[in-house]
Amino acid sequence: MHSNLKQVAIDGPSGAGKSTIAQAAARQLGWAYIDTGALYRAIGLAVMRSGANTKNEDAVAACLPVIELDVQYVNGEQQVYIAGENVSEAIRTPEASLAASDVGKVPAVRDFLLQLQRDLAAAQPSILDGRDIGTVVLPHAPVKIYLTASAEMRAQRRHSQLAEKGIDEPFEKVLAEVNARDEQDMNRAIAPLRQADDAVLLDTTHLSLDESIQAVVQLIRNAV
Ligand code: C5P
Repeated sequence: MHSNLKQVAIDGPSGAGKSTIAQAAARQLGWAYIDTGALYRAIGLAVMRSGANTKNEDAVAACLPVIELDVQYVNGEQQVYIAGENVSEAIRTPEASLAASDVGKVPAVRDFLLQLQRDLAAAQPSILDGRDIGTVVLPHAPVKIYLTASAEMRAQRRHSQLAEKGIDEPFEKVLAEVNARDEQDMNRAIAPLRQADDAVLLDTTHLSLDESIQAVVQLIRNAV
């Protein structure tokens, strides 16, 4: 079925390659890539910096009214700001990852980000990646992809990504973090990570990056 709505939802567990693949596919199509995980990370970082406990839902919710979150697209690259500071790099640490997963459990945080994500997606032809894009944020997206890979492969990829940034973490620790985040994201009460009924499952465990990108581009071209 062809649709005029140019929105693609890519969901899946951490380290499945969603952001790299979505970004490359968006570039090929001339669409925007919207990284929704970065928004949860920015909230997590802001809560951490305020000194509040990211695991305390009431404390997290109480931080929201004073968090000044802003998103800009500079040469097609998403930049995230907290109170005017560009935090696009600062949100990439393992601590910020877990803080993002913590704050993502809080209903007030999900409400806070829902309209922002929909507005960003409505403003331009877009590929969004996250955990609940196909199920909650864009339930009418004409293309939904559930991107996954084995936990070991995802941890291996994350480990190499961190090493490239000079962050030296033992593989076992990265694997444990991947598993902890999957567990928390899949089992939370609100908007848990799951494949939408109408999403295509794409397992990249045995695909190269290029094969994964081409598979995604093909799925989009066939549908819109
Ligand atoms: O995708 P990324 O690893 O940057 O996401 C960080 C965390 O933010 C995830 O582990 C998840 O808990 C949360 N998240 C979410 N819903 C989204 C995107 C991210 O709950 N749409």
